Amino acid sequence: MMKAKNFENRWGNSIQSNYGNPTLTLVRGKGSILVSDEGKKYLDFLGGIATSVLGHAHPGVVEAVTKQISQLSHVSNFYMHPNVIELAEKLQQLTGAKEAKTFFCNSGAEANEAALKLSRKTNRTRIVATEGAFHGRTMGALSLTGQPSKRGSFEPLLPGISHVPFGDLGAISQAVTKQTAMVIVEPILGEAGVVVPPVGYLRGIREVCDSTGTLMVVDCVQTGMGRTGMWFGFEGEGIVPDVITLAKGLGGGLPLGAMIAIGKAANLFQAGDHGSTFGGNPVCCASALAVIHEIEEKNLLEQVLKHSELLKRSIPLIAGVQEVRGAGLLLGVVLKKKSAHAVKSILENSGVLVNAPTENVIRIAPPINVSNAHIRKFIGTFELAMKEI
Ligand SMILES: *Cc1c(COP(=O)(O)O)cnc(C)c1O
Repeated sequence: MMKAKNFENRWGNSIQSNYGNPTLTLVRGKGSILVSDEGKKYLDFLGGIATSVLGHAHPGVVEAVTKQISQLSHVSNFYMHPNVIELAEKLQQLTGAKEAKTFFCNSGAEANEAALKLSRKTNRTRIVATEGAFHGRTMGALSLTGQPSKRGSFEPLLPGISHVPFGDLGAISQAVTKQTAMVIVEPILGEAGVVVPPVGYLRGIREVCDSTGTLMVVDCVQTGMGRTGMWFGFEGEGIVPDVITLAKGLGGGLPLGAMIAIGKAANLFQAGDHGSTFGGNPVCCASALAVIHEIEEKNLLEQVLKHSELLKRSIPLIAGVQEVRGAGLLLGVVLKKKSAHAVKSILENSGVLVNAPTENVIRIAPPINVSNAHIRKFIGTFELAMKEI
């Protein structure tokens, strides 16, 4: 019956080829489990690319979204809605900054676009970003993205942006001058294969930005919302950025992005400078509020750290694994051989979903409320997959 639905052909004939051709169709989920159109169950250790922080069909999210959509789903930003204000205040509180003001949008690329435009309000135009970084695919965000393979076909991109090696503080201080509007950096490179910078890297960038009057933008799209065991991926460095961008986990599976500008940066945008029709949509904000509530209520940050430790302790013992890097539940399993794509396929056949951002790295980013039993099941299945390879 399912084959008759012929999803692969229909996708190929009706959807742009930019994603290649997926082979698996998912129709339902509950917690960390996904169910395919053929009724096969999968343990979700990719989390919709580090996005479904509370897993699938979380009761708190379902209730908040259902209640809101049955009352009012959209108002535009010509009008206020209590949810958007409540969420902005909550984010303010989570940053711990005295002054923090949020612009809401619908994706990570848009959050970084907003940061880019905000930086132009400093009357400077130069930008420093890092090699390997991923900041999104729209033309502005792509100009920030430091991956030649993604940029190649779309040049010329925005001028004035230089990319320096990630993790190299000396390169940052050489590149940043008093003409630099902003530096943008990920606390951990997500798409490039979960690459962790040396301790003190973000603190160093903070100092460079302070001495040149440059905005420090930290792209927490992937490393925010508890993913690393902290609300924001930079907290371990004890810094406060000028701008934080969020998306992925923020909406708990619904599209929501945010650009939080702090301190002096909070008031750079004036009326008319930027906008988004859907940004701060009451339904997406209701979902985000439910996500934050659940993370606080269930002490999920603590649980993330415990599960992270277990994975970091167990996985490196498996033959063929070089190391496990990353933080919290954003981990890159570095393999000794370039077999990540094959391992990913074996895992999928065994009912576990992950992805392979590079030839030798498996990224794992399960829901942050994943159970201990599912963590153990993942470790066991991973061990078997490595034996099969
Ligand atoms: C995914 C991602 C983005 C882009 O987010 P979209 O919602 O796909 O536009 C930007 N920055 C980082 C760090 C990301 O991981």
